[in-house]
This record gives sequence, C-alpha cells and structure tokens, in this order.
Amino acid sequence: MATFEDVKTLVNKNNPGADVTMLELAYDFASKAHAGQKRLDGTDYITHAVETAYTLAQMNLDPDTIMAGLLHDVPEDTAVTLEEVEKNFGPNVGKLVRGITKLGKLKYRGLERYAENLRKMFVAMAEDVRVVIIKLADRLHNLETLSSLPPVKQQRIARETLEIYAPIANRLGIGELKGKLEDLAFRYVYPNEYQWVVEHTKSRMEDQLTYVNGVITELKELLAQSGLTNFSVHGRVKHLYSLYRKLQRKDMDIAKVYDLVAIRIIVNNEADCYHVLGLLHNKWKPLPGRIKDYIAQPKPNGYRSLHTTVFGEGGRIIEFQIRDTVMHDHAEYGIAAHWHYKESKGTELKLPPEQLKWITELLQWQKDIVDNEQYLASLKLDIFQNRIFVLTPKGDVIDLPEEATPVDFAYHIHSDIGDHCSGARVNEKLVPLETKLVSGDLVEIIMDKNRQGPSEDWLKFVKTNMARAHIKNYTKKKRSAFVKLFSRRAS
Ligand code: MN
Repeated sequence: MATFEDVKTLVNKNNPGADVTMLELAYDFASKAHAGQKRLDGTDYITHAVETAYTLAQMNLDPDTIMAGLLHDVPEDTAVTLEEVEKNFGPNVGKLVRGITKLGKLKYRGLERYAENLRKMFVAMAEDVRVVIIKLADRLHNLETLSSLPPVKQQRIARETLEIYAPIANRLGIGELKGKLEDLAFRYVYPNEYQWVVEHTKSRMEDQLTYVNGVITELKELLAQSGLTNFSVHGRVKHLYSLYRKLQRKDMDIAKVYDLVAIRIIVNNEADCYHVLGLLHNKWKPLPGRIKDYIAQPKPNGYRSLHTTVFGEGGRIIEFQIRDTVMHDHAEYGIAAHWHYKESKGTELKLPPEQLKWITELLQWQKDIVDNEQYLASLKLDIFQNRIFVLTPKGDVIDLPEEATPVDFAYHIHSDIGDHCSGARVNEKLVPLETKLVSGDLVEIIMDKNRQGPSEDWLKFVKTNMARAHIKNYTKKKRSAFVKLFSRRAS
C-alpha cells in the first residue's frame, strides 16, 4: 500500500527539486473532505485517493494530474463542492476534477446507461486525455481491492475493465496499465481459464526464466565487448491475460508461444538498437519472418521497438525486444508520456494530434448514432475489436478494424479518395474492392476523377463506420436530388 510520503518521494525522484507544496495542500484538503469515510475493505477512504495519485506519479505525470488524482472523488463523495476545489487549486486542476466528476461513477445499469457512459468517456477524452488516464488509475485501485465487494459488483467491474478500460489503455499506448488492468480482471471474469493458464504455464515459465537468466549473463558480456555502455537487459514475463489470448490463437499449445519470457534490451539511442539487432543475429540465427521493425514503422498507438525471435543456446527459441529509453518510456506510459512533468512546464497541454486522431473521428460519427444498441455494436467494431495495420504507398501506417477493405482504407485517408475510388492495388497487385486487408499490406487506391460517387453495393462489405456513413450520405443525397428532379418534371 502506498502512502502520501511515497507519492512525494516518487515525484522528487522523477523530478529533483520539484515543488510539492501544492501536492501537500491537495492531500490535506482531500483528507479533511473524506475524513471518517471508509472503503468497503475497511481502509480510510483517503487511501484510495493516494493509491490513484501514486499510480499517476509512477507514470511521471504533471503535478496538476497528480493533484487531481488526490481530489478525484471529493465533489462526488463528500460535502465539498467542485467550486471549492477549483477555488483552492485553480482552473487547471478544477477542469480535470470536473471531467472525472462528469464521467460519474460508471455503472453497468443496462444498455442505456452503458452506452451513455461510453459516450461521456470519449467526449472527456477529446477534451483532455488526462481525465481518462486518472480514471484508469482510479480503476486500477478499485480492481486491486475488488475482493471486498459483493460478487455481482466484482463481475460488473471486472467485465467492464476487460471490455472498456483495458482497450482504451491499449489505444492510448499505456501498455503497463493495460497489462495490469487485464490481469486483475481476468481471474474474476474467467476464473476457470485463469486457473488453467496459471497451472499449465507455471513449470514452463520457471524453466524459461532459468534459461533466460543464463542468456542474459552471456548477452551482457557480448554487449559490453562490443563497446556499448549504458544498456540494461532484463527478462520480461508475459502478462497472463495476453498469454491466454495468445494461447486461444495457438490451439492452447504453450510450445507455440515464443515470448512467454522475452528479453528486453534498453539502450541509449536508436542507432544502438540496430547495432544490437546485428549483434544478436550474428550470434544466433533469427527465425524467418519474425523480425519486426516498429521503429521504422511504429504501431498506430505510437509503440516503437525492434522485435526478433532467434534460435538461442541449445536451439531454444527466444524473443528479444530492443528499444532506447525514450521508446521504452512511451511503450510503458504511451500518451501519458506527453505530460511528463518536465516537458509540461509552462506549456499548453493539448491533444497530441496524430495519436489521438481516432478520438476526434469517433466523436464525428458517433454524433449521428442515436440508437444505443447500434452505437455499442459500432464501437465494438471500430475501437474494441482487433486492428490491422496497413501501409500507404508513402509508408504511413494506417490502422483499421480486422477484415477492412480497400474502400475502408480509402475513406480513412480522405472522403474524396473514398468517393472517387475505382480500384485498388494491394502489394502491387490489382485486387477487387471487397478484398479483406491483412496487417502489413501495402495499399494503393486507384482514383477515377470522373466517378460520380460511391456505389451502394459497397455497403455490403465495408467494415468501418466512417466508410458506411459516407456512402449512405451520398446515396441519400442522390435520392433526394432525384426526387426533386422528378417532382419538378412532374409539375
Ligand atoms: Mn475513485
């Protein structure tokens, strides 16, 4: 359990010389407001606020966000109002606390409420992503103390975590938090599967760890001999839930999972990453087709690293992940890294544009959906289902839902390209427009400037809401133009 002293120590460690006076005031303020309140597990309510702030401090977030973490439940759960919070801690902290209060206590009370909460979440995210990061930190502690809640609530909270919170953390690139949230929720949502994974992977995991430790010793020597300084090497054990998901794709055969324990190498800069990759391949033969250069082509959530799988000592297969310190920071903290204490001083905190384009797009089309059932179905499709990564001819990475087609790709780039799309080349070969794209495809759209607009037939195969909306819109307009023309002629 973290104390407020721990929060301060962490802030000071990450940012030597930081002024923690305001943090102390926020802690005192929240402690007084929550005085006498207990959580269901019997602890003082303030421990929850402190744990939330501690998670945010671990992510090295700016002081306003950490303060808002301490104060996040004050307006909702105590007699102290939002206005008082704002008066004491200024408009920036006030704005964050207001955002969280507006989100309210997300509850799974039926479809209506669920859809409404999701909408609120995305609106809040577009206004200030930090609101949602605080919400994720809040959820993490609620999961850590889930055992003290009644089973019905446990189920609701855990399920919601797997369905909403973890995917959002993933989309924001906060890998560390995503893994923790999933693993905590896993045992509640799928208790039997959880047990199965723990039991069936334990001995292999231990065995692999022993092996990896041997490799690490050898590797450190190799890196030092090559003249590298300032590197760190450690074993990374795969999170249980993502292991379970992978096993489902691999016939539940643990022998087919190569990254049960991977080796992570963190170096000084990008050039060193490639240098290390060369050293590894020189020493151990790589498995064909398993080298992934996420530095040259980052994942859409911003993740960068080099991955390779090799036949290691004794022919055993082992995965390496190579990155520099900046990449590592972004891999663990994703979007949160944009608000790291030092970088944020005195700067306007706005949405970093590229990584968050999908949120504004989401808000665009979700405005038009009034039916909640349809809304949830389309959200699942656009956000929460598996994504594929395809490339433009210029090498930009575009992420789309699984089974997306060239038409979805075209509309994703620009509505004009979608409207005038007449054909597509995938990996330099002409393909029909309904072709299902797969990750890594290089997609080029052939446009016909004379084309009148999209074909209604495309509705049969497009996967994204954006494409669907554009096509429907066009056909609707065309119909009403036709009707107008017809009625004019008739009169
Ligand atoms: Mn809370």
